[in-house]
Amino acid sequence: VKEDGKNGVQFFNKEMKDKIYMRMELEKRLLASIENNELYLVYQPQYCSDTKQLRGFETLIRWNSPELGFVSPVQFIPVAEETKFINYMGKWILKTACAKFKKLQDKYNFNAILSVNISAVQIMEPSFVQMIKGVLEETGVHPYNLEIEITESIFISSMEYVIGVLNELKDMGINIALDDFGTGYSSLSYLQLLPIDTLKIDKVFIDSIVGKGLEKHIVGPIISLVHQLDISVVAEGVENSIQLDYLKEQRCDCIQGYIWGKPLNDDDLNKLLFQLTSG
Ligand code: C2E
Ligand code: CA
Ligand code: CA
Ligand code: CA
Repeated sequence: VKEDGKNGVQFFNKEMKDKIYMRMELEKRLLASIENNELYLVYQPQYCSDTKQLRGFETLIRWNSPELGFVSPVQFIPVAEETKFINYMGKWILKTACAKFKKLQDKYNFNAILSVNISAVQIMEPSFVQMIKGVLEETGVHPYNLEIEITESIFISSMEYVIGVLNELKDMGINIALDDFGTGYSSLSYLQLLPIDTLKIDKVFIDSIVGKGLEKHIVGPIISLVHQLDISVVAEGVENSIQLDYLKEQRCDCIQGYIWGKPLNDDDLNKLLFQLTSG
C-alpha cells in the first residue's frame, strides 16, 4: 500500500467534503420545510408603465430555516428540482398563492394577475395540467387571473411536448409568460414558435440601461419587435428613473422592480390593496 498523498490524487479534499455535507444538509432540511412551516410566499407588484395601474403580482418563495437561516431560492430551487421535490413544493406554492389571491379578491374586489413561477421539471410531470385545474377549482381563482412564468430551460426537453402543455393551459385561459429574457440562450426566434402572451425582460438587461448611448440601446428595438408578435412586455428589476423613463418611452407595457415595489409579505400586501381600492 502506497503512502497517502504520494500519487497526489485525493478524491475529496476538505472543501469538497464541506460542500457535499452542506448540500446534503440543505436537501434534508428542504424536504422537511413544508411540514415544518418554514416556507412562505411574498408577492411583488407589477404596474402598467404609463398609468401605474396595478397589473398583478409575481409570487416569490422564501425559506426561513431555523438551522440554516434565510436561504435564497436561487440556492434551493435547483436542489428542489434535482430531487423532484419541486413537484410537491410547486403545488404547495400554487395552492397557497391562489388561496391568498382569492381571499384578497373577495375582500378588496380587484382584478389583477397572479403570476407563479413554474420549473421545467414541473411542466414535464404528466399530471401537471390536471394539478393546475384542480387547484383553480379548489380555490375558485379564475384561469384568466393566473399567469405562469416559464424559462427557456424547459426546451431542453421535448419542445413539441412542452408546446402541447402550454397550449392546453392557454386554452383554459391561463396567461403564459416567458421569464428571464436576456440571460442564457435567449433567442427571438423562440418567440414565434411559442404560445406565449408576455415576455419578461431580465434584470441583467435592464441593468444595462444607463445614462449614455440610450438611443442605440437594444431593449427598445426588442420591445417593438415583441409587440409586433402580439406579445406584451414586462421589465423586471427596474430600480431607477433612467431605466423607467427609457422603458416608458419605448412603450414597455409593465414595470416590476424596486422603483415601484419590493416583494411584499401578507401584511404589506393587504395594506397595498387597501390603499389601491379605497380610492
Ligand atoms: P425570477 O423569477 O427572475 O424573480 C425575480 C427576482 O428578482 C426575485 O428574486 C426578485 O425579488 C428580484 N427582483 C425584482 N425586482 C428587483 C429589483 O428591482 N432589484 C433587485 N436587485 N432584485 C429584484 P428572488 O425572490 O430572490 O428569486 C430568485 C429566483 O428564484 C427567481 O428569479 C426564480 O427563478 C426563483 N424563484 C423564486 N420563487 C420561486 C418559486 O415560487 N418557484 C420557482 N420555481 N422558482 C422561484
Ligand atoms: Ca419569475
Ligand atoms: Ca425573471
Ligand atoms: Ca431571474
